[in-house]
Amino acid sequence: MKNCIFCRIAAGEIPSATLYEDDKVRVILDLNPAARGHALVLPKRHYKDVTTMPKTLLGHVMKIGGQIGSAQKKAFGYDGFNLIQNNGRAAGQSVFHFHLHVIPRRKGDGVLGLWAPGSTTPEEMQETKEKIAAQL
Ligand code: AMP
Ligand code: ZN
Repeated sequence: MKNCIFCRIAAGEIPSATLYEDDKVRVILDLNPAARGHALVLPKRHYKDVTTMPKTLLGHVMKIGGQIGSAQKKAFGYDGFNLIQNNGRAAGQSVFHFHLHVIPRRKGDGVLGLWAPGSTTPEEMQETKEKIAAQL
């Protein structure tokens, strides 16, 4: 995709702070990091989001994400990391080339507020389960 910024970064056409590269992915530092070391795993081929990604590539991306998270912990003494991946504008996706965020975390850092736990009922759960399962 000629006009996709992450295709161009992944291909090395636009310089980036690359932490790791192989034939399938490039891992770069995020330009607007949630925390020092925040990285993005970019497939070299263009997929708009998780729904079109091949299974083997998804496995590889997750494996690399785990390795990057472990390296962030060792490099800066972090306590943990989040692997986050946004699909669709409503979910916070702003670049429509699949990418996995690797965000290093410290206890109590308040870097991410993912969700406020809500509530449901057994009846609603039953109906919800049936509605989603019917679409699989
Ligand atoms: P998302 O909102 O999940 O689509 O994430 C896009 C991420 O890409 C954001 O965290 C941006 O800070 C980051 N980003 C956008 N452009 C660049 C770039 N040229 N180099 C590095 N990170 C970028
Ligand atoms: Zn792309």
